[in-house]
Amino acid sequence: MNVYDGQRMTELLEAEGMTAVAEGESADLVVLNTCHIRERASEKVYSDIGRIVKRAGADKPLIAVAGCVAQAEGREISARAPAVDIVVGPQAYHRLPALVAEAAGGKRALDTDMPLVSKFDLLPARRRQGPSSFLTVQEGCDKFCTYCVVPYTRGAEVSRPWAAVIDEAKALVDAGACEITLLGQNVNAWTGEDEAGRMQGLDGLIRALDRLPGLARIRYMTSHPNDMTDGLIEAHRDVEKLMPFLHLPVQSGSDRILKAMNRSHDSESYARIIDKVRIARPDIAISGDFIVGFPGETDAEFEDTLKLVERIGYAQAFSFKYSPRPGTPAATMDDQVPPAVMDERLQRLQGALNRQQHAFNDTIFGRTISVLIERDGKKPGQRIGKSPWLQSIVLETDAPVGTLLDVTIVSSGPNSLNGVAAPQLERLYVA
Ligand code: SAH
Ligand code: SF4
Repeated sequence: MNVYDGQRMTELLEAEGMTAVAEGESADLVVLNTCHIRERASEKVYSDIGRIVKRAGADKPLIAVAGCVAQAEGREISARAPAVDIVVGPQAYHRLPALVAEAAGGKRALDTDMPLVSKFDLLPARRRQGPSSFLTVQEGCDKFCTYCVVPYTRGAEVSRPWAAVIDEAKALVDAGACEITLLGQNVNAWTGEDEAGRMQGLDGLIRALDRLPGLARIRYMTSHPNDMTDGLIEAHRDVEKLMPFLHLPVQSGSDRILKAMNRSHDSESYARIIDKVRIARPDIAISGDFIVGFPGETDAEFEDTLKLVERIGYAQAFSFKYSPRPGTPAATMDDQVPPAVMDERLQRLQGALNRQQHAFNDTIFGRTISVLIERDGKKPGQRIGKSPWLQSIVLETDAPVGTLLDVTIVSSGPNSLNGVAAPQLERLYVA
């Protein structure tokens, strides 16, 4: 979502006549879009500010801190880093041009409001973002997991209206997108009225996007297990453009820990959802998020997470050490787990998840699959694309970025798979 917000801020500033410069080039304004989800992400902004100030010398650019660190820390940011001129929260960045003008006049500018009028109504039209585009449809969260800052930094759960989403999707397709990933903190909690006034869920939105000419692939993330409706599962069965990939975080395999996390699902209900999704779409790849070392997590409870991982079989996953976040209930719970124990658990979990990822990648080996060419590779003639299962595929082709190509997978590396475009493979055999 921060990538999406970054694109929207760029479009906004470009509409004001500014031009984006490449990373490392000198700029008049630097916007740091920040993440507050874990301490490490949050602290990174201060080292980045230090580096920018040092590099610029006497010619310091205006520095804006945007995103969730801005929301959570507000004025404290400029107290800790006086070089910061602008602090703007994730629901107020439509005001960036006005804040820049204020700061250019020598004032410190701050806006961390969460206005009732959606920022989306005030942003300029979408521009070209490449063949694969993000589209935020839902923001915020009302679920209050005990470890998580999102409900405080992004605010309450809000769905963007049906027409706004469809219009933005059309604009993205007109600008060259053939894949759209619908985004939300709990994207499958999206609800809204369609043009006929009927209440719809995310599945209704996906079915409407399915009818959009020119759009070839639809994805969505991140989902919450409790919002995984039967309608959405059926969309995985019926909608061919909906890619066979589901990112469904579970966090832990221990029911006691899930309860302490206030997750409102248990490991069994999670596994049952995955079973249903697999019946609807047998080739679906499952991805997840995990936290190790939540306060009070015992060795046996961590083993339950490993057991759940074995039961589900993930194609890909993100796993994190628990990070106490200021203002969340878990941060003051007893029995915080020592860092060394967290390190060991994370290593074991990631070992298991990596093995599963490699095993999944091996199932693609030798197959001819559809690949969306997204960008140039490092070497001349090389392009990088994505499989339906979100794997990066490296291949040599002169097919332009944005092409959907049949590609045969000929070898696999740790982070990517190598392919040969099917017509070239035919030529290779004939030769
Ligand atoms: N709404 C999604 C997740 C959004 S946050 C869901 O509930 O499933 C993205 C991920 O960051 C979470 O899934 C979780 O694994 C991780 N995360 C959030 N807070 C964390 C914390 N305090 N420490 C470590 N990881 C955290
Ligand atoms: Fe955070 Fe997700 Fe829980 Fe909401 S549901 S509080 S975003 S982890």
